[in-house]
Amino acid sequence: MAKKKGGSYRIKFLMIITYLCAGLIPLFLFTAVVFKTTENYFIEEKKKELLNQANIFSGHITISGYLKNKDMRHAFDRDIELTSEQGGFRIIVTDDMGVVIEDSNGTDNGKTIIIPEIVEALETKDVAREQESGDIYVVTSIVDESGKKAGTVLIIYKPEDIHAMIAGIRKPVYIMTILISCIVLTFVLVLSHTITGPLSKLMEVIRNISEGHFDERMPVDENSDNEIMQVGAAVNNMAEKLEEVETSRQHFVSNVSHELKTPLSSIKVLSESILLDSEAPKETYIEFLKDINSEVDRMTEIINDLLTLVKLDQKEIPVTFNQESLNSVIEDIVKRLRPLADNKNIDFEYTAVKEVNAEIDRTKFTLAVSNLVENGIKYTDEGGKVKVVLDCDHQNAFITVSDTGIGMAEEELSKIFQRFYRIDKTRNRETGGTGLGLSITHSTVLMHNGSIKVTSRENEGTTFVVRIPLIHNM
Ligand code: ADP
Repeated sequence: MAKKKGGSYRIKFLMIITYLCAGLIPLFLFTAVVFKTTENYFIEEKKKELLNQANIFSGHITISGYLKNKDMRHAFDRDIELTSEQGGFRIIVTDDMGVVIEDSNGTDNGKTIIIPEIVEALETKDVAREQESGDIYVVTSIVDESGKKAGTVLIIYKPEDIHAMIAGIRKPVYIMTILISCIVLTFVLVLSHTITGPLSKLMEVIRNISEGHFDERMPVDENSDNEIMQVGAAVNNMAEKLEEVETSRQHFVSNVSHELKTPLSSIKVLSESILLDSEAPKETYIEFLKDINSEVDRMTEIINDLLTLVKLDQKEIPVTFNQESLNSVIEDIVKRLRPLADNKNIDFEYTAVKEVNAEIDRTKFTLAVSNLVENGIKYTDEGGKVKVVLDCDHQNAFITVSDTGIGMAEEELSKIFQRFYRIDKTRNRETGGTGLGLSITHSTVLMHNGSIKVTSRENEGTTFVVRIPLIHNM
């Protein structure tokens, strides 16, 4: 139980991790990048604006000769203070040595300020730079009438309003993002539950089946054609097959016991009869021993067939596929079985339409075809006809064995390849089969990657058609 839950938790956990990696983290990263870009954009714009302002000031100072003409200072100082107040920044005017001539704050008047921005503005060109503290320093140079750099205008701006504005947008956006994340997370959880629920059930079903409960089935919803349901249907299918195998195994064992028990009981009865009747004449002894002997033969026949089948199943007998002439294979069979047909006065005919060569295991294939021909002879009454035809196309060889015998009812045809299956009416006849011949033929044909078909009509006859590919691995 714990194992089962562990399995489904792992999938849930994986889905949530995937969601975090593929959904949430990129979403938050994206939002952060958007904010940073927006902030940078505003700061860059502010720098341009401040540079502009500082340049206008520098121009004014140059035109007014303010640095030299002390009389005009008062008016200009007022102007600086006013602009600084309106713009929300500090303006400092220095001479070419960095000595503060006017500070809109009024705190640094007369002090010397040597910062890289002022040096740069005096030596090369105007600068606008963000400081580590976040403040923006903008410095432009003041040029006197002779074109010489006579001082600087320094604007110090604290971008708090930009930060405040960004923070103002950030809050609702983050709230929205978190809200969206929660909604999506709920969906992910519901989705993972809808996936892991059936998966857990499937696991449980598979575990039960593997413990031997072959009647266990996965409830499959016909309407939902998703992959889990498809796996469920496949598992059900597999369980059905296992159930069939299990049932047929049980039948097989009970059939074997039954088939062997019959001759054994006969042997027991026969031997007891002779043992009890010590006075019996020699002829009776011989007759009984003959009967015992034929029962032993029958048991041997059954056991031999069983061994062949079991070996075929286990693929234990080494299979050797060789290029063989099917004409020669079938001629041999016909030659060997002709006396049987002759005994029953059966018209036994063999036609080879073409020369056919195919990759077969000669011994096994001979046994498979012999079973069909033997059956044809066995289940055809005196004076009937059995016909064997060999033909082929580009890919397959076809061997047709037809007879004008007792035939079979339609409903029997699907069962005759089962082990020990014998049709009742033939069971009673003295044909002496084991009910294993067709199983052997069927397994052998499958081993050759072929197929076998049967058509039959009661009291009219039966036709078996065996198809095998000319090349084994086709
Ligand atoms: P068996 O040893 O009894 O012949 P098989 O496996 O060869 O066993 O055949 C299974 C059953 O199929 C037979 O018992 C018989 O009832 C039926 N059968 C097979 N071949 C024919 C045929 N050519 N004509 C009529 N019935 C047949």
